[in-house]
Amino acid sequence: TEYLLQVENLRVHFKTYGGEVQAVRGVTFHVGRGETVAVVGESGCGKSVTAQAIMGLIPNPPGRIVDGKITFDGKSITDMSKKDLLAIRGSEIGMVFQDPMTALNPTMKVGTQIVEGFVRTHNVSKEDARKKAIEMLRLVGIPDPEKRIDQYPHEFSGGMRQRVVIAIALANTPKLVIADEPTTALDVTIQAQILDLMKDLQEKQQLSIVIITHDLGVVAEIAHRAVVMYAGIVVETGTVEDIFASPKHPYTWGLMRSLPRIDGEEKERLVPIVGSPPDLFDPPKGCPFAARCQFAMEICEQQMPTVTDFENGHQAVCWLHDSRAPKIEELVAAG
Ligand code: SF4
Ligand code: MG
Repeated sequence: TEYLLQVENLRVHFKTYGGEVQAVRGVTFHVGRGETVAVVGESGCGKSVTAQAIMGLIPNPPGRIVDGKITFDGKSITDMSKKDLLAIRGSEIGMVFQDPMTALNPTMKVGTQIVEGFVRTHNVSKEDARKKAIEMLRLVGIPDPEKRIDQYPHEFSGGMRQRVVIAIALANTPKLVIADEPTTALDVTIQAQILDLMKDLQEKQQLSIVIITHDLGVVAEIAHRAVVMYAGIVVETGTVEDIFASPKHPYTWGLMRSLPRIDGEEKERLVPIVGSPPDLFDPPKGCPFAARCQFAMEICEQQMPTVTDFENGHQAVCWLHDSRAPKIEELVAAG
């Protein structure tokens, strides 16, 4: 099978005054056509940097892709010229970022912004461009689009602005949309509406989506599969069903416990994961989660765990799944 997007052994470093940060340390995953994949983890885990690499947006310097390959629709992103990357970003890959205000030009009418890329690539008449802008606003659920296209970003609420950004991302009917924390800046009700909209558009347009998030609630809401990142590596991946029903990595267990859940009347207490991620200037040679893991064994600090395959493409990178490791139940029982 040829996936729409394939990321293989991606490594990205950033030069800083303090030394070189190994932000992404060998990340591999794929996205199928019409599939939504969530890349999830805490801030600093390398998820946004991974997204930037897919879009060809690693600022060099200080960043640089030191190894790996990204293939999009049969083309190598990692070997592409700046000019070709720019063309792909405008048409085949749409982008949605956390803060809609930074993605919008405050001095330009939203209708003009929505069709800017479309006009550039399609050479359409003014009238057709206007029609297209109205159609796009309607598609993303903005009421009264005929009037709204002539307004400026500040005349829209936060949620409506993010809808405009989604309209811009979709105006050229991309195959892939990369959304980095698209709902984080919005309040809870609006978040849910934007996720619904993205889900709806994904199905209607057979879009592939990569959504970057720190929030497992978002993953459950919108994604088919998830890639859990920690300290620059993928620690677990699988379908959302499998990961929620049977998570395999202690870090994922921790994320689950810190997910607010409403069970009947009682709201479960949030249990944050104690401690902080390792220093990526000088990452540990063993499992990066060892310092925070209640199940850590001697080998965990000495050697990077290998990948264990479960059913359905579910994978985890943890020594607990090595046949020589003590049984997880015994460890839990022993406290
Ligand atoms: Fe914990 Fe060891 Fe698994 Fe890392 S490899 S998550 S330290 S048990
Ligand atoms: Mg980020």
